[in-house]
Amino acid sequence: MPTDSNETKAGIETKAAVRNYLNFLKNAGFLCLVPSGRKRHDSAHSRAERLEVEHKKAGKCVKCRLAQGRAHVVFGEGNADADVMFIGEAPGQEEDLQARPFVGRAGKLLDSMIKQVGLRREDVYITNVNKCRPPNNRDPEPDEVEACRPFLLTQIELIEPKVIVALGRFAAHSLAGNQTPIMKMRGRFFLFHDVKVMPTLHPAAILRNMNYLDLAIEDLRRAVHAAAEMKR
Ligand code: URA
Repeated sequence: MPTDSNETKAGIETKAAVRNYLNFLKNAGFLCLVPSGRKRHDSAHSRAERLEVEHKKAGKCVKCRLAQGRAHVVFGEGNADADVMFIGEAPGQEEDLQARPFVGRAGKLLDSMIKQVGLRREDVYITNVNKCRPPNNRDPEPDEVEACRPFLLTQIELIEPKVIVALGRFAAHSLAGNQTPIMKMRGRFFLFHDVKVMPTLHPAAILRNMNYLDLAIEDLRRAVHAAAEMKR
């Protein structure tokens, strides 16, 4: 028969083991312990309302040097309850002026790609790794990505997309944490914070070589199909 003190010790050890495991999951990047595919509900505030709060915070952000040159913070837009979320690199000139993601030439192509796979722009959520335009459209620096990351993570946590489409090498590398060439990464899912990510070509790259369009549409179809499968 175990004594009281033995039971207590076992209880303490079990709790410590559970705590360690939860910490392990947290450090491994799991945002929450809700099984994927199930959306959480906060009855007090809608996702759109909670995103708006984050949007306002981002509007005042001066955590990195990109704040100095921006006309606007381009937080992101679309359906806060979207199953599919698109993540690009950073706003360009037109996006910076309009405070909206993907509204320039690349954005027009993205709109048409979204249509080709049976969705509308208003069905999905669109954002970027970085919310402010880098000067001369250079790649964001690692510390700028890091400074902006909490906004992206919060967007993913609030929207709980079934699938993320990473548009282009920069977004794909930034989410995957590797430097694998985009042509090797595209078309194959990886997990980011427990969400399936489909890397594909950036619409700006497709504008430079329209032969890439079919590949990107193939990737988008895979992403949309996976999101639909998760709804069943
Ligand atoms: N390219 C991006 O990566 N994001 C935009 O919002 C526009 C162009």
